[in-house]
Amino acid sequence: MAKVKLKKRNISIAIGCVVVLVVLIIGLFRWKQTLDYQKTFEYRLENHGYSEEDTAYLIEKLDEKELEKLLEKEADENIPKFMKESYYLKKNLEKYLAYYQENPEKSLSDVVAIINVRANEDWYTDPVEADTSKENLLLVNKFHQLSKDFEAPDLEKVKNWYAYGDDPMLRKEAYEKFIDLFNAAKEDGLTIIISSAYRDYEYQDKLYNDYLIQLGQKKTDEVAARPGFSEHQTGLTVDVTTYGANTETFETFEEFTWLQNHAHEYGFILRYPKDKEYLTGYGYESWHYRYVGVEAATYIYEHNITFDEYYAYFVEGDA
Ligand SMILES: [Zn+2]
Repeated sequence: MAKVKLKKRNISIAIGCVVVLVVLIIGLFRWKQTLDYQKTFEYRLENHGYSEEDTAYLIEKLDEKELEKLLEKEADENIPKFMKESYYLKKNLEKYLAYYQENPEKSLSDVVAIINVRANEDWYTDPVEADTSKENLLLVNKFHQLSKDFEAPDLEKVKNWYAYGDDPMLRKEAYEKFIDLFNAAKEDGLTIIISSAYRDYEYQDKLYNDYLIQLGQKKTDEVAARPGFSEHQTGLTVDVTTYGANTETFETFEEFTWLQNHAHEYGFILRYPKDKEYLTGYGYESWHYRYVGVEAATYIYEHNITFDEYYAYFVEGDA
């Protein structure tokens, strides 16, 4: 009897030991799990102040290095919001946040557009040299300047049939596409005439200085580009008109409406649209069209953005 009792006791002790061991192992395992979890970005981001949804989005969009960098800064719910914007550029994030803080009444997409094209800065501040290797996508604006000696290649004389004035010139491809545009408009009973095309540096210099004498600096900068900053120097730009129109009345003519609907099909865009002065730096010009090629023109038309925004995002990008 005593032997049986002893055996039973030993078994109980053994079971007890196993139970304790199992509990200990489970505990250790849980503890390790918690420690591991606390190392994850999921835990760290949420603990840092990001919502569950934002956390999931940030993890999906950023790599480890970027997430670590993000965690060094205070949590900001505007960060994922800006990242969701169509034309968000990583390199500009700090600028978006700072500008938005100063201008909370602006929409996020406006902030992105403004920063991307540098429209938050004073026009003509620290201009960079325009990248002439970009061909049809060559950007010339108040921050991208052509040198005095830049000469647009393959310029061709525009025939009188298509233009007023003495021998305007255009780059070959732009000219050929303009002829297609001209003919298509003609088929619809409309006449779109070039009133000005290529202008060299000297011409713009004279034009600008003539205005300067008449109007003074501020007003002149609103209506004319400084020499080196005129898109007309690219040989990819036309000012157009039609019978009986002038720059003020052109938008009331059918030719203008036709261009609104069809210019992009031939690779041209209205370069300085209404309500986009704050991005282009130029007042609305219903007569000024720029050749950028059909693909870019169609995108710009369909998404209602300016060439400046297109260039910042698709040509310059995050590099
Ligand atoms: Zn023009």
